[in-house]
Amino acid sequence: MATYDFIIIGGGSAGCVLADKLSACGRYQVCLLEAGPRDKHWSIHLPLGVIELMKSKTLNWQFNSSPESTQNNRQIFNPRGKTLGGSSSINAMLYIRGQKEDYDHWAQLGNDQWSFDKVLPYFKATQHQERGESELHGVNGALNVADSRSKIPVGDDFISAAQQAGYPYNEDFNGFQQEGIGYYQVTQKKGQRHSAAAAFLTPNLSRANLTVITDALVQKIILENKKATAVTVKVQGKLQQLTASKEIILSAGAFNSPQLLMLSGIGPQEELTQHNINLIHELKGVGQNLQDHVDVMVVNHHHRSDLLAYRPKAAWWFIKQVWQYISKRRGILTSSVAEAGGFIKSDPRLARPDLQLHFIPAAMDDHGRNNKMLLNYGISLHTCMLRPKSRGFVALNGRNPNLHPKIQLNMLSHPEDQQLMIKAVKIARNILAQSPLAENNGAEILPGKNCQTDDEILDFIKNKANTIYHPVGTCKMGNDEWAVVDQTLKVHGLENLRVVDASIMPTLISGNTNAPTMMIAAKAADDILACYG
Ligand SMILES: Cc1cc2nc3c(=O)[nH]c(=O)nc-3n(C[C@H](O)[C@H](O)[C@H](O)COP(=O)(O)OP(=O)(O)OC[C@H]3O[C@@H](n4cnc5c(N)ncnc54)[C@H](O)[C@@H]3O)c2cc1C
Repeated sequence: MATYDFIIIGGGSAGCVLADKLSACGRYQVCLLEAGPRDKHWSIHLPLGVIELMKSKTLNWQFNSSPESTQNNRQIFNPRGKTLGGSSSINAMLYIRGQKEDYDHWAQLGNDQWSFDKVLPYFKATQHQERGESELHGVNGALNVADSRSKIPVGDDFISAAQQAGYPYNEDFNGFQQEGIGYYQVTQKKGQRHSAAAAFLTPNLSRANLTVITDALVQKIILENKKATAVTVKVQGKLQQLTASKEIILSAGAFNSPQLLMLSGIGPQEELTQHNINLIHELKGVGQNLQDHVDVMVVNHHHRSDLLAYRPKAAWWFIKQVWQYISKRRGILTSSVAEAGGFIKSDPRLARPDLQLHFIPAAMDDHGRNNKMLLNYGISLHTCMLRPKSRGFVALNGRNPNLHPKIQLNMLSHPEDQQLMIKAVKIARNILAQSPLAENNGAEILPGKNCQTDDEILDFIKNKANTIYHPVGTCKMGNDEWAVVDQTLKVHGLENLRVVDASIMPTLISGNTNAPTMMIAAKAADDILACYG
């Protein structure tokens, strides 16, 4: 039975940052356990591989929600990374922090160490901003933040069309002002994905005090007198027990972290009883408070041939792009697919943006898994709401750790969320109808010309809306009866156990969640190291 100072469960965005920070000083033996394989596959490193990764059965957990009554009983697809780097190895690489008010709100909820002023140093410290250092950006961090090397012409058309619709241009969504339209910066280095693993783990694998075990599915955290002491883990088919002399840190993500707590006897009594799991510590908030960005797409036929499509002319264009990648590490192969976008207000009277846009140079449907759509030349505009009011939950499908967790998103269960999404569809349609996009537009594919009234649009949303892959909140930080962890991310009522990942966010931030999750891990690492001098 091997013993380490720290055992980190989950080698994703948070886990990789923790593994780096906790092992850096060399004083502690650190073990990182990851359920998936090493991050060797080409599709992880080539940015456009993001399309392939949606379908991968080995690098993607491929979760589906339970049938959603608010979505015509559809099961909503929830991709999650299952490899070193976790979801940062399969994501769209957009580097976004959210709004200052998001973190100040966390502080108002009782987490005074998480105001924007307190978290900004961690965003800066984890980042290497290729544009250079500034008041809001750092250059000494491991995570490379770059301008997109793809920037295909239709992206410029989208930006002009959005400006035509009245939305301002924004050069830096992580600057003083989030509002506006522009190109996203990406977590890439020299045209390759810079995942949390590439940035924080791979360069440090030779540290003698860092052990990384892949294909290691943790089954259970073992507690003795309310103190976390060990984990049971299946490594390549064999069960083992590993002991932690200081702490066990759970970083398995917003779906798996609450699942593993419940499998270990920590959670809502009723849920555990239902699955014959011995209750060790009751915490009714485990798995509750699930929030995600609900997203809907407007898709148009578009008469340009420099788009992603299975068409003869596009094939020739694509071959030239491959050559550009080989010779200069530039072009569409470096694309995150969602290169351009922005943050807008659904009503100009609002104090800050409540919608986010992701523009795609292709006709997309079903998370890019519907290949038939790519037989068209097309463009798609995602619109998602930034601060949903609906809440879902994560529970168990059974006590077997191999089972996927039960996910119930309850998206759009709040009537205000429904109204905002109806507005979102109208806004997206209006942008796509502006010049210079309008000149090349063909017919609308989705929702289609027969969908016009609010009722018809709502029906379309129920049939088509998805999330944009930012689940959070299921082990929320705070002091109220639903909180799972305190401000230092220690599990309430237990010793030597923390949760450090996207699940601890009390409320969803207004933007993509990868950079915020790495910030959370960097800040937690400081707290942990402070505990041990
Ligand atoms: C398709 C997609 C696109 C996205 N696009 C963007 C984007 O462009 N920009 C952005 O900012 N955010 C994006 N996100 C969201 C962002 O990547 C996540 O919010 C972030 O990676 C979450 O980090 P995490 O550490 O909480 O979880 P993860 O990174 O998911 O890590 C959890 C890790 O734990 C492992 N694990 C789980 N259970 C166990 C177990 N029992 N034993 C051992 N290991 C376990 C998993 O395999 C995984 O590696 C996207 C996400 C997806 C899925």
